[in-house]
Amino acid sequence: MGILSVEEGDPVALENAVARGPVILVCEHASRVLPKSLGTLGLSEEALASHIAWDPGALAVSRLMAESLDATLLYQRFSRLVYDCNRPPESPAAMPEKSEVFDVPGNAGLDRAARDARTEALYLPFRDKLSALVKARIAEGRPPVIVTMHSFTPVYFGAPRAVEIGILHDADARLADAMLEAAAADGRYDARRNEPYGPEDGVTHTLKEHGLSNGLANVMIEVRNDLIRDEAGQRVVAGYLTGLLTKGIPAINR
Ligand SMILES: [Zn+2]
Repeated sequence: MGILSVEEGDPVALENAVARGPVILVCEHASRVLPKSLGTLGLSEEALASHIAWDPGALAVSRLMAESLDATLLYQRFSRLVYDCNRPPESPAAMPEKSEVFDVPGNAGLDRAARDARTEALYLPFRDKLSALVKARIAEGRPPVIVTMHSFTPVYFGAPRAVEIGILHDADARLADAMLEAAAADGRYDARRNEPYGPEDGVTHTLKEHGLSNGLANVMIEVRNDLIRDEAGQRVVAGYLTGLLTKGIPAINR
């Protein structure tokens, strides 16, 4: 039996597929839903509701931005605890045995067959659908801008984080530079380069796989999740990020 049942459907969701804007929004950690076949992975309700299972608020903000930017949004419908779509299959972090302070019993000692089954069920459809979307836009003469959307916990290993918005990049910093310039001019949030994570943490997999490999402008956005707990906060942050992208994209050479 596979990881996903027929009723659970396609693991990858696409919204606003015929968007006219240049941006493709990607949300790898949109959902905390676990496939029924995997039960609870041995985790408590508390752990399964926490940031280790998903990026709270990230999908809601992405949807608002898809509207304001007229952008296509692609996201993973299942929890990153099963497969973290921002990691390649060979990375231990793709199916973490431990996430922050929580052990993940259902991920302990997975054998090759179990790892392959998860990769085939969640990662390959995600990678292939995004890749096809990007290639189609390039073929239409509309090279897209890849923007991955994440949220992070305000307290990590017991330490509070001051950074509110992270603008992350790998080898291509064009869009991040332009957005950080716009953020400095705006001044509303504590926005920082490659914080609270950076390329050394392995978080730029999607950017490399789909942005850098195709020479496309790209950026990863991290929002501290206490800012986007409710709809009012989500609207404010989505408006702010829409502004940074609207100012940043025309400022770079594409
Ligand atoms: Zn994330």
